[in-house]
Amino acid sequence: MKCAKHSSEALGVCAYCGRAVCAECVKDSEGTRLVCSPTCAEPLLRNEKALNLILQKSLQTAKASAVYCYLCSALSFGAGVAAWYTAPVPFLIWFTVGCGIVLLLAGIWYSRVGRRQ
Ligand SMILES: [Zn+2]
Ligand SMILES: [Zn+2]
Repeated sequence: MKCAKHSSEALGVCAYCGRAVCAECVKDSEGTRLVCSPTCAEPLLRNEKALNLILQKSLQTAKASAVYCYLCSALSFGAGVAAWYTAPVPFLIWFTVGCGIVLLLAGIWYSRVGRRQ
């Protein structure tokens, strides 16, 4: 396979338009993807930026979920303590405390996901 522009042996194909790309072409292009020209690099870069934006959004959602889980787990533990004093039914106490533990673990997991960049 030969490069369309430089007629030297191609390294691969452009990630955007699929044309053959040689070492000479890659020298001009910026970024990590194999592209034939800045014209092809631009929309790819824009796509990557959009993807990053979506990723950023989902990280924010994970952080919000972590806060929500922590709140619910605190409520469950509170309900467990309240059940201990007002209605000492073992099942009720274990159920609320169990929910609290599960929600706490979910909160920890979400906050770990939210911190990953
Ligand atoms: Zn191209
Ligand atoms: Zn070339």
